[in-house]
Amino acid sequence: MKSHVTELEKQLYYPLGDALPAPGASLNVAPGVKWLRMALPFALDHINLWLLRDEIDGRAGWSVVDCCINTEQAKAQWEQIFAKELEGLPILRVIVTHMHPDHIGLAHWLCQRWNVTLWISATDFNLARIGSEGASGFGGDTAAVFFAAHGLNDPASVEKVRGRANYFKTLVPTVPRHFRRLMDGDALTIGAHQWRCISGYGHAPEHISLYCPDLRLLIGGDMMLPRISTNVSVYDQEPESNPLKLFLDSIDKFLLLDAQTLTLPAHGKPFTGLFRRIEQLHEHHRDRLAEVMAACQLKPCSAADIVPVLFKRTLDLHQTTFAMGESIAHLHALWFEGRLKRRQGDDGVFRFAAD
Ligand SMILES: [Zn+2]
Repeated sequence: MKSHVTELEKQLYYPLGDALPAPGASLNVAPGVKWLRMALPFALDHINLWLLRDEIDGRAGWSVVDCCINTEQAKAQWEQIFAKELEGLPILRVIVTHMHPDHIGLAHWLCQRWNVTLWISATDFNLARIGSEGASGFGGDTAAVFFAAHGLNDPASVEKVRGRANYFKTLVPTVPRHFRRLMDGDALTIGAHQWRCISGYGHAPEHISLYCPDLRLLIGGDMMLPRISTNVSVYDQEPESNPLKLFLDSIDKFLLLDAQTLTLPAHGKPFTGLFRRIEQLHEHHRDRLAEVMAACQLKPCSAADIVPVLFKRTLDLHQTTFAMGESIAHLHALWFEGRLKRRQGDDGVFRFAAD
């Protein structure tokens, strides 16, 4: 994810100002909708989670949207929430927007503790299960081979990528054994309101955002963030995908919502100006694609050649793998459109050229 210039942020409006929920506490954003903010030990240092007042099978309580990662710190923050923020009521269901560790990490713990069901798309449920099973999951050898074919082939980086085979599992040790499937267009009754599921692609396999027309609220997950652009990457499991087109097509679905919608993002502050934000994201990627195109007109470029074009700062290995995924995504968008041609060199590396 990349920072935007703050000029763009000024075009959005933050109705809550600079108010943030204190650790272990909540902030009301609408009747029956509470904002929680939990710390993350990454460059992206927090995640927003949501508590929705609910009633299921005649029992009053709360639905949770997203969970935070599997750490003692996150569990301790949840304990404070349980003690202070639930108004004496139980958690009734756990909804997860998508399978990334900061969203699904503690789903097993929350579901077990409250004896409730996980609600998630089937695609993300199944991929999280594969990832949490460790060595057969993500990263490791297949990721190293994939990145090498895109030009990240210095021995030190290859070794480090190989060594990260269990990375997902450390953040998501397990997921619940069963789930309730969320699909695009599903209407969920949550307390007094209906929320509609909106699928989104290009960031996670099948991300689900939730929209409540009554409250004009969009729980955008990672599909609609105010300050940073959503990570859109090609991964080794699906090496010839075109996630940037999927992402841009997906965010256009939000153009059908009320223009005054308050977006509740997974990172950053709740904002209005949804349509402007959609436009900004299109502009952002259009500019990045133009830069990639210009580089490939000078000489055939691998994704590794494109990383410094798209990312001007110095990156550590973790950031480099993200940057590689994003660079491949931009090259693939142009390749799928027929504007770039792909050739594999004698060294095994894919390079993309304008003719
Ligand atoms: Zn995510």
